[in-house]
Amino acid sequence: MSNRLINTPLALAERNVPRYTSYPTAPHFSAGVGHDVYSDWLSQLPADATLSLYIHVPFCTELCLYCGCHTKAVRKREPIDNYAARLVEEIALLDGLAGRKLTHLHWGGGTPSILGPEWLETIAAKLASRFDLSGLKEHAIELDPRRIDRSLVRSLAAIGVNRASLGVQDVSPTVQHAIGRIQPFDLVERAVAWLREAGIANINIDLMYGLPQQGVREVARSAELAAALDPQRLALFGYAHVPWFKTQQKMIDEAVLPGLSERLEQARVAGETLVGLGYEAVGLDHFAKPDDELCVATRERRLRRNFQGYTVDDADALIGLGASAIGRLPQGFVQNAPDLAGYGRAIAAGRFPIVKGLKLSDEDRLRASIIERLMCDLEVDLDRFGGGAGFTGELAALAPLAAQGLLQIDGNRVIVTPEGRPYVRIAAAAFDTYLAANQKRHSVAV
Ligand code: SF4
Repeated sequence: MSNRLINTPLALAERNVPRYTSYPTAPHFSAGVGHDVYSDWLSQLPADATLSLYIHVPFCTELCLYCGCHTKAVRKREPIDNYAARLVEEIALLDGLAGRKLTHLHWGGGTPSILGPEWLETIAAKLASRFDLSGLKEHAIELDPRRIDRSLVRSLAAIGVNRASLGVQDVSPTVQHAIGRIQPFDLVERAVAWLREAGIANINIDLMYGLPQQGVREVARSAELAAALDPQRLALFGYAHVPWFKTQQKMIDEAVLPGLSERLEQARVAGETLVGLGYEAVGLDHFAKPDDELCVATRERRLRRNFQGYTVDDADALIGLGASAIGRLPQGFVQNAPDLAGYGRAIAAGRFPIVKGLKLSDEDRLRASIIERLMCDLEVDLDRFGGGAGFTGELAALAPLAAQGLLQIDGNRVIVTPEGRPYVRIAAAAFDTYLAANQKRHSVAV
């Protein structure tokens, strides 16, 4: 980190850094980890290991221009049905884990509800036949309020879904037009009502700032209206403009994207709006009601960070199902083939569709823990990780942030100040030994 680059907070915000939903981050996974290594790692899982399961559904009816997810637009049923059948077969490959306790289940995408009630029920039944679901704490799904109806919501409740995340982003018609996602707010209200009526009481709402045509006023209004629906949790993500990586973003007019200082102001105002309405800030970009598990875990310093963001999920292993899904075992990370053809071929051959991964070293684990504590607690005590002597370079790299009041260095404790909260990814990056080679891939820090 050179002083030339970071002599103002705004210059800092320009840095491209990962979101640190894992460490090391996915771009550093390599082809050395495949079916055989994964099979071996799975076989070493202790019999009493708890499992978290993520199912990725990489289809949407149409693509939103801002989307950064691994998904594609489909209009026909056939690819969806074929994919769902492959998911069932992938679960069958996990025979060796039969009877293990599943504590968390998350359907993400894409638009997972595009599978339809029958496939959702078939896949859920397959999971129930394979795993012990008696201790399932959370069964969550990401939903597009434009793509659900009352009967689908009832099916979700019937398979045990107890948490739904609704993508809202911004309520302004002008912004919605600019991002290619027309979603009148009454659709969101109706979705929330259906979910509550069906007994799915845990509602999350996702908002965004930094979108084209978005100003502070739009962000504040979106936060107010979203909070008026009384969700337990809200997430406020900064739009990551990476058109070299996500081609549909090339259709976004860069001239109407807010600048960095505007983005910072939008994040600040949205956060203050939500806090003023009774929510507590959690980590970098989440907000929750004070009695929500996320807030309790924050106070007790046991908040975790995973690929879905902030969580209390503390399962021993994460099993990823579906194209591009990432898993995490005690030994390291694995990632499924991102392309549907490669994913399908491996499953048809009776092999795990793992195409890359990373075996964790002791050094990786140590740095992963430091980065996770920084991202979750907004502070880290290096004495818990062998003391500051092993991190003199990192502490020196953090000194300019401290000089700008964005964090304090108190002995071996690194504490992000309230002003520094938007910059916590930059503080975390100081402990990332993989970063230098791959900065261009990431989005700006705020
Ligand atoms: S619905 Fe969600 S996953 Fe699908 S294109 Fe829009 S933002 Fe991406």
